[in-house]
Amino acid sequence: MLEVKNLKKIYSSKKGEDTVALKSINLRLPDTGLIFILGKSGSGKSTFLNVLGGLDSFDDGEIIINGKSSKFFKESDFDSYRNTYLGFVFQEFNILEDFTVGKNIELALQLQNTPVSKDDIDKILKQVDLEGFENRSPNELSGGQKQRVAIARALIKDPNVILADEPTGALDSETGKQVMETLVELSQSKLVLVVSHDREFAEVYANRIVELRDGNVMSDITREVKRVKADNHIEIYDKSLIHIKKGGKLSNKDIEKINKYMGDVSDDTYLALAPIGEMQSAFPSKIQKFDKDTDIVKYTDTNQKSIKGNTIARDMISSQLPFVDALKMAYSNFKSKKFRLVLTLFLSVLALVFFGFATILSDYDKDFSYVKTFYEGDAYMMSISKTEHIGNGSSSKNVVDVNFTDTSLDYLQNMFNGRYAVTYDIHNIPKSPYDINKKVIADTEVFDASSHAVFKPVKFTGIIEDPNEIFEVAYGTYPDGENECAISDLFADAFVENGMRIGMGDGALVRVGMDNYDQVLGKEIRVGGVVYTISGIFKTNYHTYSDLFKDKSVAEIQEDSDLSVKMVHYNEDEARFMSKVVVDDGYSEGVKDSLFHYDAKMIMDVNDDTGAYLSASATIDNTYDLGQGEVMISALYYRNLKYGNKSTRTFEQLETDFVDNNQYEFYSRISDNSSVKGIAYAESFTVVGLIDDIDVLGSPVIYMNELDYDKMLDKLFLPKSLLTTANLSGETLNRYVTTLHDKNYELSARNEDSLILIGDIMNQFVQLFYIASGVLAIFVTLLLYNFISVSIVHKRKEIGILRAIGARGVDVVKIFMLEGMMLGVIMILVSIPAVAVLSSIINGYMLSVLPVLLVSFSFKQAFYMSLLTIFIIAISSFFPVRAIAKKKPVDAIKNN
Ligand code: ADP
Ligand code: MG
Repeated sequence: MLEVKNLKKIYSSKKGEDTVALKSINLRLPDTGLIFILGKSGSGKSTFLNVLGGLDSFDDGEIIINGKSSKFFKESDFDSYRNTYLGFVFQEFNILEDFTVGKNIELALQLQNTPVSKDDIDKILKQVDLEGFENRSPNELSGGQKQRVAIARALIKDPNVILADEPTGALDSETGKQVMETLVELSQSKLVLVVSHDREFAEVYANRIVELRDGNVMSDITREVKRVKADNHIEIYDKSLIHIKKGGKLSNKDIEKINKYMGDVSDDTYLALAPIGEMQSAFPSKIQKFDKDTDIVKYTDTNQKSIKGNTIARDMISSQLPFVDALKMAYSNFKSKKFRLVLTLFLSVLALVFFGFATILSDYDKDFSYVKTFYEGDAYMMSISKTEHIGNGSSSKNVVDVNFTDTSLDYLQNMFNGRYAVTYDIHNIPKSPYDINKKVIADTEVFDASSHAVFKPVKFTGIIEDPNEIFEVAYGTYPDGENECAISDLFADAFVENGMRIGMGDGALVRVGMDNYDQVLGKEIRVGGVVYTISGIFKTNYHTYSDLFKDKSVAEIQEDSDLSVKMVHYNEDEARFMSKVVVDDGYSEGVKDSLFHYDAKMIMDVNDDTGAYLSASATIDNTYDLGQGEVMISALYYRNLKYGNKSTRTFEQLETDFVDNNQYEFYSRISDNSSVKGIAYAESFTVVGLIDDIDVLGSPVIYMNELDYDKMLDKLFLPKSLLTTANLSGETLNRYVTTLHDKNYELSARNEDSLILIGDIMNQFVQLFYIASGVLAIFVTLLLYNFISVSIVHKRKEIGILRAIGARGVDVVKIFMLEGMMLGVIMILVSIPAVAVLSSIINGYMLSVLPVLLVSFSFKQAFYMSLLTIFIIAISSFFPVRAIAKKKPVDAIKNN
């Protein structure tokens, strides 16, 4: 039983004008029966119904539901109360347009966590005369049908109470009647409360009529029906026809009536006597059968005290909107705002892409970029070298490749165990290509470099000692023994194309043509003073370049940035390994021994005060009995070093001022020219004496001990780089690069300088990208906020309907959270691949230009982007969703 006591409801407007919609309503409502709430518009009928149904709040009084007072209700208890006890029927039907008739009905029960069978729905539909309408869409229904769906929806829950606000208001009178009849039937077992302003309807159908005026109960009457037995025998129709029942007699009263009638007419009168059949054909419209028993309807004031409730309180059920339905409603929000959706998503994705790049760029790691550059670029072999800053100048001359010491060589060989070859540069060794034995290196002169950018191997520039055979000898055999070597396919092809000039022993050079590799094999070449027999031809990557440059002139290559970069690569590779010969383990010694077959000198450079280099050639001297670490140096050299090259001091003056034990740091190299390049390493010597050469023409000299000389020479012939294949796994490569950089080794990646420069630029870009993504993210958050708010506005009615049929605030939250999540998922699914694809495009471009791998997209970026998405979605949906969840159901359901 429902009861309201002193129920008061005030609408306060912002302007401060309060409307007291319900003043103080006291009503006891029985468990069954059809009760009409009548009243003029504005009298508070809807307000009463909404408050009673928990759709709206009230200001005073209480609602007692089966003995339990609303005073102990929380907001969610009202939801559960609606969900459990009530079914609503509205004037505007309030069917969810997103769902079918069947689903609309089903949902009401699903909100109670009760599974619904097809039979249940069929049964209910039959009850409201809508058999077979299950799969219809609401917009295919007439108003009356919709209203019956609404009734079916209310019924499926088997509620105790049905609250109907003007249920026939939007229907024509015929369908209105049908709907009312359905309600009458339901009122046998339920309490049906109908709000109406239609008194006629009320008088036909109501058991009780409560009339409101200005928020008060004006009258409350209950209909009583008296059954009257039909025991009369005659009846006068239309004042002109007397119908006498079989066996009936005219009573005195009847005769009185007839006499009275005759007194009223001013003419003669017929009183005809005829059987019923004849009369029916003579006066068809006037003949009727006698009444059966008749009901006499009487209204009395309702005696509320006599109303008793028997309904047993039910357990309140908390609603649970099924996930799929929430998802469907969320999805339907997208369909209605396609343009806005696309715009919002586009900008969101843009923000995420910016952010993704910001995280990529802030992740930029030089080592890693090296590795990636190697790994994904066109590097074929990589070389490891060591650079050092020498002297006190800051020019590029001061940064030199130094030879590996025994320790570092051990370290590297250990590290690249089984995967290294060492190289010896000999390009500073005096070359006498057509000398003594007249064994000739590749002919250079047939190439016209200015017109044709073909590959132009000029000379052999060094030796690769390859203990692990990492160079693949594709033709011939791997070099074995000290007199064999393998040359690159670049050189072999050049010999085949141009022939090889071979010394005839008498000083004459003859060009010998060659048709194939077979004829190249067995020929002798000179490298660094040693004569080797070519035993094999090793493969390089030069074809990848030569194919690119085929038929291209130098000018054409220079114009094309892509090609000129490739040209740089090629030149690097050529210097590293294509122009070197491969020998077997241990056979680099021969070159060292032969170094001084030519007039090569060991040059010792020293830095003067200004940072300039002075050079002198070193010589072994035994006459002065120099100890280890002691040198005598040219007076000329000394004068320049100490007093500058403008000094005019004489030898005697120098000798007088000479202080013993001057320590200088010398850089040694082997050269036949004055280039400082090729400096190998620094060593300190004590200058113990001066050589008198002030007036002698010629280059300055340094005298040193034989042991020191040999030691320096040995060091000069230490390898300068270590080669390893570049086709390693990224992981291995990464390990190498990181370890080697930590130890100050240089890995020759493509364009090291660019890598460093880019590192710096990158830092600035990162900030820019973060700012851009931040600004966009804020903008997008606002857009999404707007998007979800608009969705909520569009769905306001649906929200109200759901709330009215029992959904809790959290069910509504679920819908919009899902909408947000769907947006988020789309954002993630689009932006992550976009960043991945874009970064690979950028990398492709960078590789062709610099070549440097700039960006590396990984799981980490995807993770951060997802985090940002979740954050944006959470922020943008929190406030609108919270607002709607807090809203009273009635505010949501109101149409405007
Ligand atoms: P009825 O359904 O009988 O036409 P209502 O219950 O809708 O009447 O309205 C009762 C009174 O409360 C009217 O004066 C109406 O203007 C006022 N009222 C109804 N709803 C609101 C509202 N949301 N805000 C302010 N006043 C309202
Ligand atoms: Mg109303």
